[in-house]
Amino acid sequence: MLSNLNGSFTGKVAFVTGAASGIGRETALAFAREGVKVVAADISEQGNQETVHLIENQGGQAIAVKCDVTRSEDIRAALGKTIEAFGRLDFAFNNAGIEPRNPAPTAEYEEEEWNRIIDINLRGVFLCMKHEIPLILEQGGGAIVNTSSGAGIIGIKGSPAYTAAKHGVIGLTKAAALDYAAQNIHINAVCPGYIDTPMMGRFTGGTDEGRSQVIAEEPIGRMGKPEEIAAAVVWLCSDAAAFMVGHAMVIDGGQTVQ
Ligand code: NAD
Repeated sequence: MLSNLNGSFTGKVAFVTGAASGIGRETALAFAREGVKVVAADISEQGNQETVHLIENQGGQAIAVKCDVTRSEDIRAALGKTIEAFGRLDFAFNNAGIEPRNPAPTAEYEEEEWNRIIDINLRGVFLCMKHEIPLILEQGGGAIVNTSSGAGIIGIKGSPAYTAAKHGVIGLTKAAALDYAAQNIHINAVCPGYIDTPMMGRFTGGTDEGRSQVIAEEPIGRMGKPEEIAAAVVWLCSDAAAFMVGHAMVIDGGQTVQ
């Protein structure tokens, strides 16, 4: 609990994509613990419902909306339900994303895989901001956090699309932050290192060997926890972070400073 920093969160509403799992779910829960009303947006209806139940069990308020972040009509409909249910939009965490499936050197990389990753991990963030910003402006400002990655800071061998998408999220965050800084929307990004989520389970193949290889890249000697990203996102949306504009906050156990 961040003790409701300067009253930043009283009566506020957050739209969280990728809320059915991992970092998105933990961030939805963290917002709700601060008294923020949460809209859990994800392609997974079942996962969304589970997140809403978890929030309700801890005494918070939330709704689930099915939303594919690559489809403008889905995003518009989900934001429409947000306004219908809660009357306003203050914060957005544009976090939905996928991991690379078939790593390959750039010249051998499949065009279809490139398109799929750029579509969800980069174009999806742009589309969400495009439709969120007018609503946030309507009530005088707010905050947006976009999920990049350590792969937005350094290159990942065999993952040109994921690396390009996550670098792109940082560039997009900077441009949008400049566009709206004077209108009181604080736009920043987070760059998680290896975080122990269902995505990481798929990435490591769920084996001890896979996990050990990932942990060996982390100077801190462990993976991060989704709660450690959630805390940063909630702080970035608070009044305490009001002077942070267009920044990419790296939370990675030291992985990218080696
Ligand atoms: P996760 O797989 O646990 O959760 C991702 C969620 O995004 C899922 O619920 C999934 O259904 C949803 N999603 C996928 N495609 C979607 C779409 N088109 N529209 C709406 N929702 C969609 O993954 P996670 O580890 O929580 O990752 C969250 C974000 O963090 C991603 O953007 C990921 O790239 C990034 N990230 C993760 C790590 C890590 O180590 N886990 C590290 C750096 C960055």
